[in-house]
Amino acid sequence: MIIVLKQGTPQQEIDKLTNIIVAKGINVNPMFGSDLTILGLIGDTSQVDPAQIESFRCVERIMKVAEPFKKANRMFHPGESVIKVGNTEVGGKKLSIMAGPCSVESKEQITYVAEEVKKAGATVLRGGAFKPRTSPYAFQGLKYDGLELLEEARAVTGLPIVTEIMSPYDIEIFDEKVDCIQVGARNMQNFDLLRLLGQTKKPILLKRGLSSTIEEWLMSAEYIMAGGNPNVILCERGIRTYETYTRNTLDLSAVLAVKRLSHLPVIVDPSHATGKFWMVEPLARAAIAVGADGVMIEVHNDPAHALCDGAQSIKPDLFAAVMKDIRTIAACVGREA
Ligand code: PEP
Ligand code: MN
Repeated sequence: MIIVLKQGTPQQEIDKLTNIIVAKGINVNPMFGSDLTILGLIGDTSQVDPAQIESFRCVERIMKVAEPFKKANRMFHPGESVIKVGNTEVGGKKLSIMAGPCSVESKEQITYVAEEVKKAGATVLRGGAFKPRTSPYAFQGLKYDGLELLEEARAVTGLPIVTEIMSPYDIEIFDEKVDCIQVGARNMQNFDLLRLLGQTKKPILLKRGLSSTIEEWLMSAEYIMAGGNPNVILCERGIRTYETYTRNTLDLSAVLAVKRLSHLPVIVDPSHATGKFWMVEPLARAAIAVGADGVMIEVHNDPAHALCDGAQSIKPDLFAAVMKDIRTIAACVGREA
């Protein structure tokens, strides 16, 4: 439930109303916009009598929130959320370009790719240290050594780092070392992990689950936000359909849906969505054209010998070309890159 207050309502009145609602065991989130103050109610709002609330003179109107996600709901947050990630922001006018290898393989590799993507205009360095592989015999990542190599690449380039967490045991070390914690598609509904990430203040890049609906995805964001961490960035990375030509099916309409339903920023990962390096450039363009807040792209110095996801990785020179394209499209849709 949302209570819209009349303009210029004194704080005293807001407090009075809030206390009555809180006494019913409901959380009240006040939001002060430039020309609107709203109270977002979270909890069992069947306890709230709309007639009683409307009897307060400061109340303009009451709105029911039909969707099960509240904190992630656009109704709860007038305006777009802008999330600070290290020295950059996700969700503002400037597009976020997260780029780097699927997995961190060596100091030379990650530092070289970091320098190249930075030169071309990336804003965040990605690189997996803990890899969720389908086969237990496949390369599982450099783990804690990988985190250190990412830190070194950040020190050299100044790029903030995003990397995937797999286990709740690692939250403390991720919180200390990385700028943004990625929750991969496979862990999107690992509710214990989400709940614990809600207790940090670290930005969380929440990838859409392999077969998740948009509502399930937003409910996972809600888990993190309900715990007290509002810093969630969504990432559409393709979903599983009957089509097998591409690794997944990129759902660009999800960007529009999420933008309508939620205030959270959303970026697109054309690399995992398609599994094909030659589809990355055109779909990155499409993502920006449709209104995404940025992209996540896998870039590798030597895709043919990559330890993970070589077929979808692009080389730094192609990444530079993608950036040029993105800048052209960005200008058409009122964004910057
Ligand atoms: C990744 O970004 O390296 C990754 C494993 O992505 P996803 O969780 O989307 O498959
Ligand atoms: Mn990958």
